[in-house]
Amino acid sequence: MRWERGRRSDNVEDRRGVRMSRGVAGGGIGALLLVLVALYFGVDPSVIVNTGIQPSGNTAPATESRSSSPEEDRLAEFVSVVLADTEDTWHTLFRQMGRSYQEPSLVLFSGAVESACGFAQAAVGPFYCPRDQKVYIDLSFLKDLKNRFRAPGDFAQAYVIAHEVGHHVQKLLGVADKVDTLRSRVGESRGKRLSVMLELQADCLAGAWAYHADRSRGILEQGDIEEALNAASAIGDDRLQQQSRGYVTPDSFTHGSSAQRVHWFTQGIETGDTEQCNTFTVERF
Ligand SMILES: [Zn+2]
Repeated sequence: MRWERGRRSDNVEDRRGVRMSRGVAGGGIGALLLVLVALYFGVDPSVIVNTGIQPSGNTAPATESRSSSPEEDRLAEFVSVVLADTEDTWHTLFRQMGRSYQEPSLVLFSGAVESACGFAQAAVGPFYCPRDQKVYIDLSFLKDLKNRFRAPGDFAQAYVIAHEVGHHVQKLLGVADKVDTLRSRVGESRGKRLSVMLELQADCLAGAWAYHADRSRGILEQGDIEEALNAASAIGDDRLQQQSRGYVTPDSFTHGSSAQRVHWFTQGIETGDTEQCNTFTVERF
């Protein structure tokens, strides 16, 4: 992705190196909050439970001051540029819809973070909290994409950020609240399917962002789209479940299968049309 010369966002809150007290994390409340937060981000919480990923924050050496590597600082800068590009793109698209776009904040954290949606550890992956309208990203997840999920490339990382911003767009458009209301009225399995449709729509919106960002600023390089598709496929629920426990249970999907995620991201990036992102009328499970 061509990003080095891109604008940096003013909405990044750098909370790396801020240490959370362990007391908040311990016991049932921490676990409950983790599950609540789990509704919003890019990784199926059961994966965290099943693979026993250790959150790095609690066991990290107690350095109070921020110590980040040049590699991490570059990644933080990259995140800032992608966020700025989503701001420019969504301002334009919202204007075309006769609305105005309110920019979300993006919180960079390490280890663990306190959000209006509860306490979250880095192991949960990136997430969006609709209550404070902030995207939370731990840079180690972006590095994990390459190493653990075998989805290398900067555009794979951009896709993840754009997916979370997609959740913010859903909040602003009222889709997220509608789904919340519906979810409280229907049974558990239909509620889960609604969550999956919401996730797939965020993938489609991420694709729509990429379409417009490329048309306006020529950000895409050869291989970028493949990187994002590979990431969409790599973090599909079926693939993650297969990897973590050796079998797949579609009923427990939270984000959709690899094929669905690839389908909806492609739909977004090929059409650039948010109207084409109506996963709620198309997806059948
Ligand atoms: Zn999501």
